[in-house]
Amino acid sequence: MLDYLSLEADLNEEERMVRDTAREFVEENVKPDVGEHWIEGTFPKELITEMGELGFYAPNLDGYGLPDLSERAYGLLMQELEAGDSGLRSMASVQGALVMYPIHSYGSEAQKEEYLWDLGTGETVGCFGLTEPEHGSNPTAMETHAEKDTAEHGSASPASTEATQDGDEYILNGAKTWITNSPISDVAVVWAKDRSDDDTVRGFLVDTDTDGVTTNKIEEKLSLRASITGEIHLDDVRVNEADVLPGVEGMKGPLSCLTQARFGIAWGAVGAARDCFETARQYATDREQFGGPIARFQLQQDKLAEMATQISLAQLLVYRLTDLKERGEMRPEQVSMAKRNNVRMARDQSRVAREMIGGNGITADYSPMRHMTNLETVYTYEGTHDIHTLILGSDLTGFQAFE
Ligand code: FAD
Repeated sequence: MLDYLSLEADLNEEERMVRDTAREFVEENVKPDVGEHWIEGTFPKELITEMGELGFYAPNLDGYGLPDLSERAYGLLMQELEAGDSGLRSMASVQGALVMYPIHSYGSEAQKEEYLWDLGTGETVGCFGLTEPEHGSNPTAMETHAEKDTAEHGSASPASTEATQDGDEYILNGAKTWITNSPISDVAVVWAKDRSDDDTVRGFLVDTDTDGVTTNKIEEKLSLRASITGEIHLDDVRVNEADVLPGVEGMKGPLSCLTQARFGIAWGAVGAARDCFETARQYATDREQFGGPIARFQLQQDKLAEMATQISLAQLLVYRLTDLKERGEMRPEQVSMAKRNNVRMARDQSRVAREMIGGNGITADYSPMRHMTNLETVYTYEGTHDIHTLILGSDLTGFQAFE
């Protein structure tokens, strides 16, 4: 596997083990069927608990049965999963960085006990509801809202089994869309404005079985097909106060989760690009035209040389970012740079790899075109490429160009 600058020589034993376990898992359990899942628009659901058993969800967190691995081990895991498919890495990113991370960081002890164990094993599946039909890049303008109910009523959620009293329930209304895994989720982290408290944004742990919650699947995507995406409609949904994340308020809540997930995406994109490179290199070596392998032609070598260089630069970026994260010095703007660069790199290079495979390259028998179309989503979600440009522009100049 491409590691041109021998970055993996510095991995410790635990990190090597994580890399090898994930690589083997992807080779044996993902690659053989993922093309078919992609064509069918299905996610290999049997892998959800298998990934849990292997400790693939939030392995960089501690307690509640979680392994507390290094950030580098976490990054390597994301890289290997996305070498399989961006949909697979999305599953692990959402479960770990967008659902378990906020519960771990901002949840009450009862919430942590109730959710983290089962999310870690994959027995429970979670999703993260931030994007709305009218508010994607600007989630601050979200319309989903919660209002405290002062009337007397019964318990509405599993986090609190005791009878509720006056004023300890919220009523949620609104709609979220483009939510990874919402149709198969047991719990949704829903970000909403609290109308009883000056529209402060809060995180609500919503059991998807609760009355008034519907999670329709979005069909006929042409990207990230081996991943389930849906909506979350909230129609007078009663949520107990015990299901509000107590440790955070304001946009810091969702944005801090996105920083965690974007870190994993910056790593993951390298995995997708590496898989494209390896597939193209192998094909160029095997495929004969004009009396010999196409890899002997300078034009093909130029493509491989450029691909290997761009992948290596992207690897350097995430390794350095990871050092900063380990030291507690990583800034969200640095994550924006890595997400922006590495996803663009993977998107560009997947296209070159597809090109090298000729006509065969447009089939699902070879991974590059699948990666290429997946990467359209990765380029767009977790902050579009444009939005990360503006984040960097603002950081570099002091001028906000969002509006
Ligand atoms: P818009 O915000 O409408 O943007 C449209 C275009 O305008 C983009 O090119 C954008 O870059 C550009 N643009 C916007 N503002 C500016 C500006 N100020 N200056 C210049 N250009 C601008 N969301 C979740 O909450 N949870 C999930 O689990 C989740 N999973 C997803 C899975 C998939 C498959 C997809 C496709 C999306 C997912 N998303 C999820 C949503 C994703 O984060 C949004 O699609 C993304 O934030 C962009 O929002 P939008 O699609 O509304 O585009």
